[in-house]
Amino acid sequence: MKLKKGLSVLLAAVLLLSMGLLAGCGEKDDKDQGDAKPKLVMATNATFPPYEFVDDNGEFAGIDVEIAGLIADELGMELEIKNVDFGVILGGVQSEKYDIGMAGMTVTDERKEQVNFSSTYAKAKQVVIVKADSTYASYEDFYTGYTTVDGEEVPAGVKDGIKIGVQQDTTGDIYSSDEPKNWGFGEDNVVRYKTGALAVEDLKQGRVTAVIIDNEPAKEFVKQNEGLKILDGAYADEEYAIAVNKNDTELLQKINDALKKLTDNGEIQKVVDKFIK
Ligand code: GLN
Repeated sequence: MKLKKGLSVLLAAVLLLSMGLLAGCGEKDDKDQGDAKPKLVMATNATFPPYEFVDDNGEFAGIDVEIAGLIADELGMELEIKNVDFGVILGGVQSEKYDIGMAGMTVTDERKEQVNFSSTYAKAKQVVIVKADSTYASYEDFYTGYTTVDGEEVPAGVKDGIKIGVQQDTTGDIYSSDEPKNWGFGEDNVVRYKTGALAVEDLKQGRVTAVIIDNEPAKEFVKQNEGLKILDGAYADEEYAIAVNKNDTELLQKINDALKKLTDNGEIQKVVDKFIK
């Protein structure tokens, strides 16, 4: 159909005007949010110094918090932190409630079935905290003895009365709760706490024999509490990474690019040096 020139000009004008109005609506929304950048929503559990904690001013602080801030800057996004139980972080990333999970989160094969992990940004280990006067020299002393299974020497059983305190849903919990033949201490000998600090409190009270937790938080807890020590050696070696929803491969790529840049230019090391002396 051929329109008369005047009519088509009019139509074009109407079209432009409505586009202008629509754009106007968009602007209004933007104004409501100020000059807001897109948000990068990070789920964490801020009870895990020096990686994430609430500082004396009530602000989120720590290595993960600062690295996440640097990544958000690289991505032109604004970091928003949600402080939740450690155990709900991965489910929340999976259901797209959160964009990323960053919480001194150890990469494991089981977790990789739930989420994608970024490149790793820290090496870590599980260590054993006991009372300073404890006679145990290693977690190996918690076992009754050793036996050979499939050609490998593994623990035969756990000594009576051994109780291991852990933060619920962490690798310390998962590994400790396994059977002795897999170097665990058996479900029944593990006491789960909401935070590492609560586990340490019960260790001080003598309600558990030891607390198994990540090395750097362990150092903080021993510093903050008298009468505790960390046993030599690692119960497990681990690496931390950022959890991202499996469908969000574009975000994963951007985070990995940012991590590489921030590693190469020394920014990540600067953050680590600020919190780990
Ligand atoms: N690294 C441990 C894990 O991933 C503990 C992390 C934490 O307690 N925030 O399970």
